[in-house]
Order: sequence, then C-alpha cells, then structure tokens
Amino acid sequence: MSEIERTDVIVVGGGWVGMVAAAALASSSRSVLVLEARAGTDPRFRGELVHTGGVKVLRELGLADALERDGAYRAKGFAVITGRKDETLTLDYPEGYGLAMDHHGMVHSLRRSAAARPGVTIRTGQRVMDVVRDGDRVVGVKLADGSEVHASLTVVADGRHSRLRPLLGLDGSAELLSFTAAIRVDGVALPEAQHGTVMLSPLGPILAYEVGHEQVRMCVDIPTERAKGTKRDLAKLLTSEYAPHVPEPLRTHMLRAIAEGHVEMCANQEISTDRVAVKGAVIIGDAAGCPHPLCAGGMTVGAQDVASLRDALATVSAGSAAAVWDEALLLHERTRYQRSRGREVLSRALYDVFLAASDGARALREGMFRYWRASERSRSASMGLLAGEDARLASFAREYVTVMGYALGAIADEGKGASARETLARRWSLWSSAWSVAKQPLSRSGRFTWIEALRQLGKRPEAPVPHGTANAPTASATQSAPSVSAPPASERASSR
Ligand SMILES: Cc1cc2nc3c(=O)[nH]c(=O)nc-3n(C[C@H](O)[C@H](O)[C@H](O)COP(=O)(O)OP(=O)(O)OC[C@H]3O[C@@H](n4cnc5c(N)ncnc54)[C@H](O)[C@@H]3O)c2cc1C
Repeated sequence: MSEIERTDVIVVGGGWVGMVAAAALASSSRSVLVLEARAGTDPRFRGELVHTGGVKVLRELGLADALERDGAYRAKGFAVITGRKDETLTLDYPEGYGLAMDHHGMVHSLRRSAAARPGVTIRTGQRVMDVVRDGDRVVGVKLADGSEVHASLTVVADGRHSRLRPLLGLDGSAELLSFTAAIRVDGVALPEAQHGTVMLSPLGPILAYEVGHEQVRMCVDIPTERAKGTKRDLAKLLTSEYAPHVPEPLRTHMLRAIAEGHVEMCANQEISTDRVAVKGAVIIGDAAGCPHPLCAGGMTVGAQDVASLRDALATVSAGSAAAVWDEALLLHERTRYQRSRGREVLSRALYDVFLAASDGARALREGMFRYWRASERSRSASMGLLAGEDARLASFAREYVTVMGYALGAIADEGKGASARETLARRWSLWSSAWSVAKQPLSRSGRFTWIEALRQLGKRPEAPVPHGTANAPTASATQSAPSVSAPPASERASSR
C-alpha cells in the first residue's frame, strides 16, 4: 500500500469558495492542501458579482486588492427598471462597493493569492472520490488513483453538485427553478453605470451588471419549459420575448451578441441543507446550499461561510484534540445557519416577486416598488439585506411585513374599479405568496430560526454588526440562540 500523505487541512475543490477558504485557513503553523479535480477552472458559467458583504470578507483576508489589480470592476448598487414610464429605482449599497469580474479570472486571481500564503499547496487534476473514515470520524479523502490524504479537518467546497455531500451523510434538497441564459454584451454601458440592473419581462427577470468598462453581462431568467430546443430556438426566444423589455442602446448590443452566439445556458437550482458539519469534515459554499442567482448572493454567502469557519477555528491549533475541532465545527454550523437562512428566504422571495407569476406576487412587486419609492431609508434597508450586510431573518421578516402593507394598499387602489370578489381573490393570492415564503424555513429544521426571528422582531433594530464579531458569538449568545441544525455532539454520534 502506498504511503499515506498527511496535512492539517484538506480543501476539496479549488473553485471560488475553496480558494477563499485556503487563503483564510492558512497560517505558518497550519498546512492546507487544496485538491482540485480540473486542470484549469470549471468552464461553465458561474457568478461574477460579489456584494459588499462578500467584499468585506475578501478585504479582511487581503484578497480584494489583488482582484481589483486583476481587473475586478466596482459596483455601487442596484437599479430596477419598473416598467412604469421612464422609471428606474436606484438602490445604492449602504456602504462600500461590490466587485464584478469574469468568474474564471476571479478564480485564477484567488488561486495566485492563496498559493502565495504560507502553508498552502494547490494541486489541480486531483479528483477526490471518497472520504476516509476512522470509526465515525472523517480523517481524510481518497483520490481517483486510490491514494489517500489524511488531515485533522476536511473542508468540502466541491460545488452545488457536490459528490462528497451525500458521502458525508449531509443530504440537501434540490429544486430546479429555471434556467439562465448568460449573454456577454460588449461596447455598451448600463443605463445606471456600475449598478446591477434588473429589467422585467413577462417570462422572467433579466439581471445585467458590468464586469468592466463597457462590458456587460446579462443573465436572462428562462422558465424551465421554455428552455428546451435548439440554439436557434433559444435565440428566437431571447429576441422576441425578452429583448423588447431591454432599453436602448443595450437592446441593440444584446441582439448583436445573441446573433453572434455569445449565449451560455445554465440551470438555476436552489439547494438547501440542514447540516454542514460531521466529525472531521465540513461543507461550505455551494456544496452547503445555493439560492437562485438573481440575487447574486452565492459568493457572498460562500465568503461569509469561510469567515464563520475561520472564526470558529481561531483557537484550534494543528495539535488540538479531535473533540476541539468538532466543537469548532458545531459552532460554525450554528452561526452559519443563523445567517444563511435569512439569505435563502430573501433570495426565493425576491425571485418570486420579480417573476410575478401570480396575482399575489404581482401585488407584492407593486408593494415593493411603492416601498422603495417612499424613502432612502427603505431602499437602504433592502440593500443591506441583499448585500449580505444584515442577514438576520428578523430584519427580512420586518421588511417583508412592511412590503405586504404596501401591497395591500396597491390591491385596495386597484380594487376601486374591480368587484369585491376580484379584490378578495387578489388578497387571498397575496397571503398565499406570503405563506409560501414563511413555510420555507418552517418546513426544514430552520423552524427555530423563525421563532428566533419573531422574538427579535419585538426588539429595537440594531446597527449591522461588524464582520468578525458577528461570526464569533460569545458563549452566552451561542447558548441562548436556538440551535438551527446542530444537535448535541452525543446525539449526532448516535444518529450516524
Ligand atoms: C447562472 C448563475 C449565476 C450566478 N451569479 C452569481 C453572482 O452574480 N454572484 C454570486 O455571488 N454568485 C452567483 N452565482 C453563484 C456562484 O457561481 C457560486 O456561489 C460559486 O461559484 C460557488 O463557488 P464554490 O467554490 O462553492 O463552487 P464551484 O464554483 O462550483 O467550484 C467547485 C470546484 O470544485 C471542483 N470539484 C468538484 N468536484 C470535485 C472533486 N470531487 N474533487 C476535487 N474537486 C472537485 C470543481 O472543479 C470546481 O472547481 C451564480 C450561479 C449561477 C449558476
């Protein structure tokens, strides 16, 4: 048998989140080995826009400057073209800026930065096939050639189609929501420069953002049943059903890009998990869950996952006992769900509202626009959630209830020319939409998070907690916060 290689931490997957993790966990006293299956980067279309919450983590880790040097473009916020004559609602990030860049360029930049850190080794062309266990503890991984690498901790960042997630016994639920047609459009700026721009079409929303000067990426949301057919069918669909809802001059450039075939299709799956940690291993990034990409939140959640893990491991050294590593993983698991549940629910709710497939969702969309028109404060509160600066479910619940109020107002105004039955049907549809949002965390073990959210609703809103402190709760905070997904270690051991 070949000799077993040993390291302190294995990172499976050298994609965006794996590289941020390698940079964050490396130190002169801890060796980190990254095992990436591909020789280069994953060639499929992946996210490009990182919100301020994610940029904050990149900055703390000393990775943001290199990204900017390598071409990342600053984003100031979002703009929504509402469909009302000439109206664009501009929502700026409350503070700081986002970064946008071609995904593969970003991964290459992060790989260079991570490889320069002490203790980090990155090996490409190394596909991990399985985990290695000693009893109920993961002690390493097995590679395609049958060799094994052992470590105190295995961090799994192998993406949304994670091979290792089920092998670790960490099931996730996956739902195919729609498809994205990603179109690269050059030679034009957005109507609101440096603002990710949402445009509405009857079939689905379009998100466009700049990845450079006069370099625009358009992500067109296509219903699953319309995404079938040839490239020519797709080009026809984009041209006839979506392009008319795009303002000039972007539309002309979009049509040219479609005609030249600069379109890439990608499935939009929503993946949700209840647990991310087992003894000796943890899943992070898309492997731990991913929302619909309309909110462009995947990498921000991934970066915050990494920050939470780094904080939880802060007092763990290479020589620490296995139980100390496990306690840290449980702490990370608890804190990441306190943050990520809010994000998941927000992403789904915003997608439903922009899709506006029912009377209720249409009323919510109108309510949301009214709310954003109302004040700078309302726009800022919504952007705080979107940017990942404020990830509390309670904040989301507060915003949602407020938007519901505006939506009821919109239904009442529309009802002036409608029958009582029609108005009642719209109200019923609105409540159904709200219920489908609320039951998401209720239907998973995150139900306790809703209880926590309702408890917090009664409290005065706090200023967003600076990153670092938010991810490192005090002992009392962790004791009082209801556990979202982590049963006690004894229970977990027996459940396996
Ligand atoms: C259409 C679309 C648009 C998006 N837009 C945005 C956006 O604008 N902003 C945003 O923040 N997010 C966006 N996202 C989400 C974003 O792309 C992901 O959150 C991000 O790529 C997750 O990074 P990851 O490292 O977890 O996974 P991945 O990027 O999937 O990387 C996983 C890596 O693991 C490697 N790997 C897989 N299996 C193995 C194995 N067995 N052994 C070794 N290596 C392995 C893969 O080769 C790959 O390099 C979008 C996603 C989609 C689908």
